[in-house]
Amino acid sequence: MKLIQSPSKLNRLVHQLKRKGRRIGFVPTMGYLHKGHLALVKRALKENDVVIVSIFVNPTQFGPKEDFKRYPRNLKRDQKFLKQVHTDYLFAPTRRSVYPKGFREFVSPGPLAKYLCGPKRPGHFQGVATVVNRLFQMVAPDSAYFGEKDYQQLRVIQEMVRRFRLPIAIKRCPIVRERDGLAMSSRNRYLSTKERIQARALYQSLLKAHKLIKGGERDAGRIKREVRKFLKPYVTKIDYVEISNPSTLVLVKRVKGSVLVTLACFIGTTRLIDNKIIKV
Ligand code: AMP
Repeated sequence: MKLIQSPSKLNRLVHQLKRKGRRIGFVPTMGYLHKGHLALVKRALKENDVVIVSIFVNPTQFGPKEDFKRYPRNLKRDQKFLKQVHTDYLFAPTRRSVYPKGFREFVSPGPLAKYLCGPKRPGHFQGVATVVNRLFQMVAPDSAYFGEKDYQQLRVIQEMVRRFRLPIAIKRCPIVRERDGLAMSSRNRYLSTKERIQARALYQSLLKAHKLIKGGERDAGRIKREVRKFLKPYVTKIDYVEISNPSTLVLVKRVKGSVLVTLACFIGTTRLIDNKIIKV
């Protein structure tokens, strides 16, 4: 696996590959890789001739009181994992090459950012849309892989690609979970042993919603109240529990067709998110 840090080197490489007719798959990440990331990489390897993984902890998607500074970083460890699955290229640009001095070309995340995590993390999805757009310009992939773990992010990117008519296929990948159901996340590393056990409640509360819906409950308000009641003893703070239309993210009052149940909770100071699509 080759490590590339300079966008112009990457650009030359991408041009060469395209001339040879190679299909390029791209997996953008913030590093500190786990099996969730690697599932995306493995799928990209199956579906493309060449796979480029990026690692960039994007400052513009963190709020001023969020964990940008302490976000886990370990390039050596990540390189080892990526080599093991036979990744072709790791692109790890510097902050300055992604955001040159005076950078102002921020990308609007569109209306999907009004919901769920949007109001809780002002500026977050603008940062996400901006960095993914920058990376798409640099990598010019045929396909890019995103996890349903960050469902709203995935929808924001799908919409951005549609609005800008980018010739990139967005591939949606299922959530990879630990054995006890906790969605894998680089942030799980922040949890103490006790908090890690408490964190099981997130997925369990989604299963509770699933059971209620399968049992015939259609009132979104009642389902949300039950989910909150379930979570309360285990979490420090519930940021939100919502039930939305999986496409528009608009909150629903009644469950019809498929719904997206999403939640965000603090366990100690760690903010975790999870979601499940539930079909009636
Ligand atoms: P991150 O490094 O957290 O920005 O994540 C990079 C990509 O990996 C995003 O598309 C995430 O949605 C995806 N991802 C992270 N965790 C998981 C997981 N547990 N299962 C599936 N995809 C994931």
